Amino acid sequence: TPSPASASIALDIIGTVESCYPDKFGIPRQPGLAPQATARLRLDAPFGHRDCVRGLEHFSHLWITFIFHQSPERWTPLIRPPRLGGNHRIGVFASRSTHRPNRLGLSLVELAGIEYDPAPVLILRGHDLVDGTPVVDIKPYLPWADSADNARAGFAPEPPPRLDVRMSNECRQALEARHDGESLGALIREVLSQDPRPAYRRNRRDDRSYGVRLHDLDVRFHIETDTRGSGDRCESIV
Ligand code: SAM
Repeated sequence: TPSPASASIALDIIGTVESCYPDKFGIPRQPGLAPQATARLRLDAPFGHRDCVRGLEHFSHLWITFIFHQSPERWTPLIRPPRLGGNHRIGVFASRSTHRPNRLGLSLVELAGIEYDPAPVLILRGHDLVDGTPVVDIKPYLPWADSADNARAGFAPEPPPRLDVRMSNECRQALEARHDGESLGALIREVLSQDPRPAYRRNRRDDRSYGVRLHDLDVRFHIETDTRGSGDRCESIV
């Protein structure tokens, strides 16, 4: 019997994500934070068979188990969660960090539909996955088993705070000219309100210009700090 340190197991990739997020930068740090985010999960042979998803259309939400394929294989026992400003360390297993043994990720997403091409393609919403993410399992979400009343959530007891987002006239006009402008505008607002900047850049003067890619768009933004009132308030501007 191999010792636990040398035991390993091979996983099959059952499908690949085609995502509205071409890059890691800007993706919300958990699913559900940008409900307008869309993805197509294309199942590959031999898992890309209708039988494998028979009955799945009756579920509204899914657990997606995937590989953080864009993270390094190297991991460390302690990590610095962005939520704690990047200054405090906690155990990797007390975190949802992408830098973890086996690089396995777990996301609860909405199932918006199933298409057949002819292999099944699952239409996902509200996800937090970069384009090309390999998926190793799918399970239906069972609200009575998968949610806990009175759960404690450690250093992340509530959703991250949101910034106000203001759009430039140029951005508004560009969106109005597109057939998908309304949903795209909503996605831009949801993503930017999460403040995509690295943790160490927050809560300090920041004159930089940043870019987030969403679908085929390169969305530029900067932070405006409003010092009126009791404290600083930041606004992201497209
Ligand atoms: N909900 C999942 C979990 O808890 O396992 C992922 C949480 S992780 C903190 C979310 C971040 O992972 C996103 O903001 C994005 O930058 C990054 N990410 C998404 N897909 C990835 C991939 N395939 N490889 C590496 N990083 C990825």
